[in-house]
Amino acid sequence: MTNQFDLVVIGGGPGGYVAAVRGAQLGLNVAVIEQRATLGGTCLNVGCIPSKALLDSTELFHQAKTKFSVHGIDISEPKANWKQMLQRKRDVVATTTKGIDFLMQKNKITRFVGKGTIQSPTTVSVANNGETSLVTGGKILIATGSTVTPISTVPFDGKRIISSDEALELPEIPTTMIIIGGGVIGVEMGSIYARLGTKVTIVETMDGLIPTMDRELGRALEKSLRHLDMVFHFGTKVTSAISGDTVVTVSAEDKRGELVTLTADYVLVAVGRRPNTDGLGLDGLGIPVDSRGRIEINDHYQTSVPSIYAIGDVVRGIMLAHKASEEGVACVEQMVGQKSHVNYDAIPGVVYTWPEVASVGKTEDELKQAGIPFKKGNAPFKASGRARAAEESDGFIKVLAHKETDEILGIHMIGPRVADLIAEAVVAVEYRASAEDIGIMSHPHPTFSETLKEAALAASGNRAIHF
Ligand code: FAD
Ligand code: NAD
Repeated sequence: MTNQFDLVVIGGGPGGYVAAVRGAQLGLNVAVIEQRATLGGTCLNVGCIPSKALLDSTELFHQAKTKFSVHGIDISEPKANWKQMLQRKRDVVATTTKGIDFLMQKNKITRFVGKGTIQSPTTVSVANNGETSLVTGGKILIATGSTVTPISTVPFDGKRIISSDEALELPEIPTTMIIIGGGVIGVEMGSIYARLGTKVTIVETMDGLIPTMDRELGRALEKSLRHLDMVFHFGTKVTSAISGDTVVTVSAEDKRGELVTLTADYVLVAVGRRPNTDGLGLDGLGIPVDSRGRIEINDHYQTSVPSIYAIGDVVRGIMLAHKASEEGVACVEQMVGQKSHVNYDAIPGVVYTWPEVASVGKTEDELKQAGIPFKKGNAPFKASGRARAAEESDGFIKVLAHKETDEILGIHMIGPRVADLIAEAVVAVEYRASAEDIGIMSHPHPTFSETLKEAALAASGNRAIHF
């Protein structure tokens, strides 16, 4: 096998494998180095895909328990078969990661299994089971992603104090679980277990859930999750955790400075992720990282060494699979001289709870802070016939538009299937549509999408028809 390539990609996640495929489409001879046995990175192996598989199974279980009878479907009390849920999740992951192997073959991309270390501006060593080989490339793309972040006061033990990796493979449905961090992983993993009957307590330092998203979304999500009997401690900081054989005891300090003591079967630490740069060889090449350990790049994804590029979770910006993939494509297209770019203002964020949460563009707080005058339209799903027919009336869609020009600046949603509805909002932001543009476009009836039209009409001049 020749070890000489035009492009060597380190990391086979949604950033790396997509960049590799695009490079091959553009005629480059590409290699991918991945230390995991399977391709697909965090997202396919221990992130997006397995978490969504369990979210879908547990939501169906929850609906069978709580909604079937309302629809006139009488069944005996459903039981959760956790072993089968886990097996289905593993099968979904296996099929999806095998799909990436197929893409590598189809695009004639060479795969190296092992840990990559950059030795020079054009050489990477690959270490696997005590053996090392050298791979050279005209260009090297770092797409090594991120990994779980520990808290110094609550170190992982992999048994009782766990990360999302272990939370996706617990041997049993816990009776109780404490989750440190009310961000995306906290509310998604919390939903999985709360739907199965686990008593879930979330401890969050900020004053609400998913605090980086528009604040109204976090408040509405909290209300919905309280229906799953979730308990929340906001403005609370964990100070220590003591792990026993069967339980963990967590000590925390609330916003009044009072001690809070909590005990549970498991503590899931979900306070963010850190970039993967250990052993990459950055120091030897003088490639700097920022204060959060992220590789510094210029507008063309180039590091301080011109032949070495970096994208995805290992660089600045939001840690999302689609952001990593868009960067992979733009980076490789720029390598061959195309004028590609990523519009960072139009990257959607989705939280796969139920109701789902989705967002694109600026939040109300961001617009206020920037002093941009805006108007808003807020349409409730309660006013939607489709939502009533589906017994899914919780939530709303909020459209924020410029006060004078009517240009859409942000769209924030919580409700049924908003993970898919957000795509229309992305088109609106990308093409700089006005609220009126969306408001006067025909939306199929009856669909959840009509609520976006209503919110746009409300924002563009108090013209909503149904509320
Ligand atoms: P990664 O996917 O982390 O891939 C990097 C790969 O590089 C890894 O496979 C790693 O093994 C490999 N690697 C690292 N160092 C080396 C080395 N030196 N040599 C060889 N290989 C190396 N995002 C979404 O958009 N939607 C979601 O629904 C979603 N859900 C998530 C759920 C969970 C539980 C988690 C943890 C994350 C989730 N994310 C989600 C985030 C998403 O997984 C990441 O943003 C995305 O995977 C980043 O892609 P990447 O290619 O930059 O890195
Ligand atoms: P996050 O940044 O979304 O949330 C972490 C939360 O922990 C924040 O709300 C923060 O205020 C809180 N926190 C930080 N330190 C704390 C402490 N000591 N005690 C209590 N709370 C503390 O991070 P995450 O949920 O760990 O997710 C990691 C990354 O994975 C995110 O960047 C996210 O975008 C990505 N992800 C995305 C999805 C999705 O797109 N649906 C799903 C899961 C993960």
